[in-house]
Amino acid sequence: MYVVYAQTMVFLRKKGKSYMHHCKKCDVEFRKKSTLEQHIQYIHKSDFPSVKKILILGGGFGGVNVLREIQNIFQNKVNVDISIVNQDNFFLFTPMLPEVASGMIHPRDISIPIRTFCKRAKFYQAVVSSIDLEQKLVTISRQFDGKVHALEYDYLILSMGSITNFFGNKNIEKHSFTIKTIEDAIGIRNHSINMLENAGQTSDPDLQQKLMTFTVVGGGFAGVETIGELNHLIRESAARMYPNINPEKINMILVSSKNGILPEVSKSLSEKAMRSLKNQGIQVITKTKAVDADEDYVLLDTDEKIPCTTLIWAGGVTVDPVIAGLKCEHGKSGKVQVDKYLRLIGYPNVFALGDCAEIIDSTTRKPYPPTAQHAIHQSHTVSQNLKVTLTGKDKMNQFSFHSKGMMATIGKRNAIVAIFGYNLQGVIPWLIWRTYYVLQMPSLGKKIKVILDWTVDSFFKRDLTSYGQIKKKNLTKVDIKENVVTLKELLFPDL
Ligand SMILES: Cc1cc2nc3c(=O)[nH]c(=O)nc-3n(C[C@H](O)[C@H](O)[C@H](O)COP(=O)(O)OP(=O)(O)OC[C@H]3O[C@@H](n4cnc5c(N)ncnc54)[C@H](O)[C@@H]3O)c2cc1C
Repeated sequence: MYVVYAQTMVFLRKKGKSYMHHCKKCDVEFRKKSTLEQHIQYIHKSDFPSVKKILILGGGFGGVNVLREIQNIFQNKVNVDISIVNQDNFFLFTPMLPEVASGMIHPRDISIPIRTFCKRAKFYQAVVSSIDLEQKLVTISRQFDGKVHALEYDYLILSMGSITNFFGNKNIEKHSFTIKTIEDAIGIRNHSINMLENAGQTSDPDLQQKLMTFTVVGGGFAGVETIGELNHLIRESAARMYPNINPEKINMILVSSKNGILPEVSKSLSEKAMRSLKNQGIQVITKTKAVDADEDYVLLDTDEKIPCTTLIWAGGVTVDPVIAGLKCEHGKSGKVQVDKYLRLIGYPNVFALGDCAEIIDSTTRKPYPPTAQHAIHQSHTVSQNLKVTLTGKDKMNQFSFHSKGMMATIGKRNAIVAIFGYNLQGVIPWLIWRTYYVLQMPSLGKKIKVILDWTVDSFFKRDLTSYGQIKKKNLTKVDIKENVVTLKELLFPDL
């Protein structure tokens, strides 16, 4: 008996007691329909007409969690084709980036290759260069030669996070480090160690002070955690390895434009955190903005000029220009606006979550804060609602989440935690922070590696090796010939 699929090249053929899936073009049979589907896609570069294409843009907290959930939901269903695009080939566990910047954790231990999550999804390491919501088309430019390709979708998930916002200040952009990517964290670590080496080789007190002054702008999680970690690294390393550095020349400065730090936590906990930073020798300047910078200074809007060779900018975020340019409704900082089911307003086949979406809390009427824990919870809602949209079964879930706690590290064995109405600060909250975040890591291997990094750091002194510049090779002139197995086919077999 034959059953003809909508596409003429495939049959279901009964052989003995079981049905075999048959490709008429090649005259080969497959036991599983999914294997036949892959054969059609890879060999004939075609799809089943009934296959629905789900495309996830961004492999961070939002994107990777949606990917993992929908792969489980649609486990053996062959009528969905899932793809994910991310500019790096790994998922980055950002809450531990400041610990990478201070050298406590190895960069590889907080980066997990996205392919390890792809049980049945395709992964494209490429930059999303445009999204056409009307044509349901996304263009991506692949990394190795910059060539642009189009991907069609039936359902789109926008989870492209945020980018650093310099508010148009070119000098600050040029002369500052940021703390968003793994390269940023490696760069800050290398630079900080170089500053220690330079300061250790000068007897000029003013120059030594300039080299040993670290200014972090931004009183949010990223800024506070970074200054806490750097303070530990610089003070401890100087005391241990650089006898020439006068400890009084070390200045650690945190600049916040708000009337305090960590706006996500209560006023009393924010004040506790500020006191603790000050006790560790960190100067906290509030209600102040950085307005200009050069190689060796930062200028504040109070006209104070801070002589320093290190400026780290964690002073604001905005959305990727591709998200900002979407023809849909936008909220603050260009974030896309969604309905209570996390669907893009006016586009029921497009979902958005995480830092690139403005999601309003129906109780407070304010947008939910851009945190990893919110992105993770939003991923549950998006996955469920995608399932409902595709299957027509069940009712859509409205997104609602009330965080049970907020926490941040604020230096050596020190953290603040707001949990179940309690505001805590010190070693116990620091242990809670570590336990919570290590449990959140989506890989057992990396969990173990991070615990090992922490253990080694408790018993041994910090490694002060500076890695210097890493050379990259471009492959823009690689000649891609047709009809032979090429680099193109190896990297992008289905394009
Ligand atoms: C230093 C630091 C510390 C933090 N600490 C905490 C913390 O302690 N607790 C907490 O809850 N939150 C913390 N956050 C915030 C948290 O990281 C974000 O809220 C969370 O990552 C948002 O998830 P997302 O999926 O929206 O974006 P992301 O996790 O940023 O993922 C977005 C992904 O999209 C990719 N992407 C973006 N544009 C493109 C493009 N054009 N083409 C291809 N790929 C693209 C990016 O490379 C990235 O992989 C911290 C953030 C930083 C930077």
